[in-house]
Amino acid sequence: MIIDNLAEFASKKFGQNFLKNDYYLHKIVQAMPNDNLKVAEIGPGLGDLTKELVKVRNVTAFEVDKRLCEHLNNEFEEAIEKGNFELRCGDVLERWESGSLLDEPYHLVANLPYYIATNIILKAFKDEHCQSILVMVQKEVAVKFSAQVKQKEFSSLSVLASSVGKATLCFEVEPEAFVPPPNVTSAVLLIEKDISRDDEKFETFLKIAFSQPRKRLAKNLSSSFSKDIVNELFSKLGLDSNLRPHEAETSTYHHIYNELKDNLDGKQRSKQPKQTSRSRAANTKKQKT
Ligand code: SAM
Repeated sequence: MIIDNLAEFASKKFGQNFLKNDYYLHKIVQAMPNDNLKVAEIGPGLGDLTKELVKVRNVTAFEVDKRLCEHLNNEFEEAIEKGNFELRCGDVLERWESGSLLDEPYHLVANLPYYIATNIILKAFKDEHCQSILVMVQKEVAVKFSAQVKQKEFSSLSVLASSVGKATLCFEVEPEAFVPPPNVTSAVLLIEKDISRDDEKFETFLKIAFSQPRKRLAKNLSSSFSKDIVNELFSKLGLDSNLRPHEAETSTYHHIYNELKDNLDGKQRSKQPKQTSRSRAANTKKQKT
């Protein structure tokens, strides 16, 4: 396929910012875990990163854009014949609906489409065959996943990442390395997984805990759980009631969650609206009749 103007060809809908920089392409491959596991690449695009990956690994790639699938099937004809490369055309998120991306242990390597990058990383946390995640994302997203406790960027995503393994922001990449250049600085993030976790309720719980990141953790939790239960739990666990969400360790979140999770299915006490003198009078009247 001959493309006259790559910037015009790139589809915004599919988050296409092609990495056209050999230095960073090699740096990504060098940052890969040092073993022989298969690689799943999400969004191979024109195949620049794929070319480097197939030199060293067996690759299965997932691409949603039909124009690119046709191009990749031609470009990698030889690798497909040799069994080094397989292309699966379609939305990778739909693939995940029917289980693991690959039916054997693999490393995820990708220059991700930014519009679904966080979603993809969270799916990979749950996929038990996925051993590690090495991805180009928006720098802000990489910082959120890799922040350490007490740093102001420590977020629900940091807790989720440190619950499955270790996250490292490897290096930053400037917009000029891409065609077309994105509006933001990018960064390559590595998450080495020790385990997989598939617990939607824990994600919901963390959303509550970090709902107002600068407020007190106890206050955020009290918006969804009974204030008395939260206060009792804080004293039981020896936690400071002034603790802010970014100051609590990942293990603390797991302890709190284990105590509160049974209250998460809408069973938690919904806050009673404050009674005004008028509503109190109306209630008394109702009771009398
Ligand atoms: N890997 C190429 C590179 O580094 O130049 C392209 C990266 S580009 C940022 C993101 C790629 O993900 C595009 O090829 C895009 O078509 C693809 N993509 C977007 N949404 C996708 C989805 N839901 N499933 C699979 N691929 C997707």
